[in-house]
Amino acid sequence: MDWRDNPNWLDLRDRYGISETQIERVVADFLQLDLRRSVERFSPTERLFWEQGKDAGVIAAHVAEVYGLTKKQAKPVWTIFNARAATQEAVRRQLALGVRQGIWRCTMAGRNPCSHRDLDGKTFDIRKGMPFDGRMILPGEDAGCMCMHSPVIAGFDESPTLLQRLRRMFSRS
Ligand SMILES: [Zn+2]
Repeated sequence: MDWRDNPNWLDLRDRYGISETQIERVVADFLQLDLRRSVERFSPTERLFWEQGKDAGVIAAHVAEVYGLTKKQAKPVWTIFNARAATQEAVRRQLALGVRQGIWRCTMAGRNPCSHRDLDGKTFDIRKGMPFDGRMILPGEDAGCMCMHSPVIAGFDESPTLLQRLRRMFSRS
C-alpha cells in the first residue's frame, strides 16, 4: 500500500505540513496498531489508546512527542489512529461475546469515496478481517474508512433459519 493513494494521509502533508518522512513513520505504526491482541502484548501506543482512549489531550501529546509534531499537526494524526482503535475495540467486545463473523457494510459516508465498495455485503471472520490490497482489514480500520459491519450472531443468522429451528422445536414437543 502506498499512503499517497489515500487522501487522508495526503492531507497530513498538504494541509498540516507534516513531512513525508514523518508520515511514513506514522503510517507504519498505524498499520501495526491492533487492539485485538492480548493486553500483555500491547505496544506503548496501544496501551495508551486502551487506557486513555477517551482522553484526546493525553494521546495528542503522546503523538506529538513520538513523531515530533506540533499540537495542531498531532490532532489529525490522533483522529486517524483513534478511529482504528475504536473499530478494534468494538471487535474485541464482539469477540468476547462469542461473535465470530461480520457482514461488511460500505456506508459510502465520509469526505472521500470509499475504496471498499467491492467488499460490501461480504461475510468475514472478525478475528482476521477481509483481504484487501495485500493486507487484512476490518471495516473502519483504514485511514478515513467509514465502513461498518453487522455482527453475525451464531444460531440466528446461520442456517438453519430461526423459523426452521422454531418449527423443529415445536415438532419435538
Ligand atoms: Zn471503507
